[in-house]
Amino acid sequence: MLKKSHIAFSHAVISGSVLVSNYPIKAALPLFVGAHFGAFAPDLDGGDTYDSELTRLLGKLNFLQYIPHRTYTHTLWIVALLVLLFYQMPQIGANDYLIRNVILGFTVSYALHLILDNFSKQGVNWFFPFGNYRYNPKFKSYQKKRKYHWYYYRVNGNFELWFRQLCRLVIAINFYLLYLQWF
Ligand SMILES: [Zn+2]
Repeated sequence: MLKKSHIAFSHAVISGSVLVSNYPIKAALPLFVGAHFGAFAPDLDGGDTYDSELTRLLGKLNFLQYIPHRTYTHTLWIVALLVLLFYQMPQIGANDYLIRNVILGFTVSYALHLILDNFSKQGVNWFFPFGNYRYNPKFKSYQKKRKYHWYYYRVNGNFELWFRQLCRLVIAINFYLLYLQWF
C-alpha cells in the first residue's frame, strides 16, 4: 500500500484502541507519534516513502533504500527486535509516558504495515532470507510464493482507495469520541 494508506490504517486502529482502553491523553499523544512513523518505516527500503521533494532529498542519506524492497525491513525479525526494545525500556529508566509509548505505537504500527502488505500481490516474506519466495528481475523484488491466490489487492488500486477513505472516516469518528472522553 501507499504511505498515506498505511498511515491512515495505523491511526484508525490506534485511535480505536485508545478509545476502548480509556488511555489517558498524555500517554496517547506519544503513542500516535510513534504510530505515525512506524506506519511507513518499513518502506524506508525504497517503497512509497519518497513521495515529496523533501523526503527524496533526505532519502539520499538513507542507507536503507539500498536494501531490496520488502526484504529485511518486512520481517518478523524486526518486529521481535522492537518488542524486545519495548520491554527493555523500563530498565533503562526511560520516561514511561513518553519513550515507552512512542516505541509501543511504532511497534504496533510497524506490524500493521507488514500485515497489510502481506495481502498485496507481492506479499511479505516474514522470515527473509528464509522461506518461500522467488526473485522477480523485472521489478527487482522478491515475491512470496503462495498457496492461495484469491485475497490479493493491487497497490494503489480501487480497493486501496476505498480502504483508505474508510480508515479516514473511522479516524474522524474516533477522534470526535476521544475529544468527548478527554475534554
Ligand atoms: Zn511495505
